[in-house]
Amino acid sequence: MIGVFFNRSVSPVNLILLYTSDFKGPHHVRISGRRFQHMRSVHKAQVGERFRVGVLNGLIGLGEVTVLTDQYLELRVQLNQAPPKPLPLRLIMALPRPKMLKRTLETVATLGVKELWLINSYRVDKSYWSTPILHADTLREHLLLGLEQAGDTRLPNVYLRKRFKPFVEDELPAIARNTRALVAHPYDATPCPAATAEPTTLAIGPEGGFIAYEVNKLREAGLEPIHLGPRILRVETAVPVLLSRLFPLAL
Ligand code: SAH
Repeated sequence: MIGVFFNRSVSPVNLILLYTSDFKGPHHVRISGRRFQHMRSVHKAQVGERFRVGVLNGLIGLGEVTVLTDQYLELRVQLNQAPPKPLPLRLIMALPRPKMLKRTLETVATLGVKELWLINSYRVDKSYWSTPILHADTLREHLLLGLEQAGDTRLPNVYLRKRFKPFVEDELPAIARNTRALVAHPYDATPCPAATAEPTTLAIGPEGGFIAYEVNKLREAGLEPIHLGPRILRVETAVPVLLSRLFPLAL
């Protein structure tokens, strides 16, 4: 029975995230609302079709559509695999402008970052802190999209720190302790180090870059400046380039 279940091809769409409240039995889920509408209208889900599924913060596997109505669909699920490994990374980013923030949240979730600190910096515009994207529900929606893309289930933790100095002086030394601690900075820096599996702390600046005072404070907290070469990259490009250099085997 299980063999038949797994031999049919799987619909090549993103992972469908399941919540514990979806379960009607150990292998039986019912999905309604936004995910149901999406599966019906975009994926044109049919009875018998199979999808990759995963439980939020839990296992991944396959689900076969067993019931399809106008309001909901039901899946028979087999959850037997661990989600991909998290990156051993504490990522600190100067808060990007809203449009970039949205994409960055999705990208970091897709790349396997599980700890993200969004901090203030001299060149972060104050208005960025009032974007609705930072509201818990919206933030979570963007992270979930990133997880679904990657086929991952583990939701990243995001911490907001609106004041640079207290964060860097009081919290950062403990965050960076016993990790390979780096700040991406195009000037006065050593080349980006080779990959290791070591736990790493990495800070990335705002679109205008960190100012000299900030780079000094980050150094005092134990972060070593590294560069990627002479080309200055946008934040949204710098993030995947840095992570794939630092953790090529994990991505
Ligand atoms: N306009 C700024 C650059 C900001 S780029 C300037 O000229 O200084 C935004 C952030 O991306 C930087 O703060 C840094 O963290 C990262 N970054 C971009 N290009 C980089 C490079 N070549 N090396 C290291 N970090 C880089």
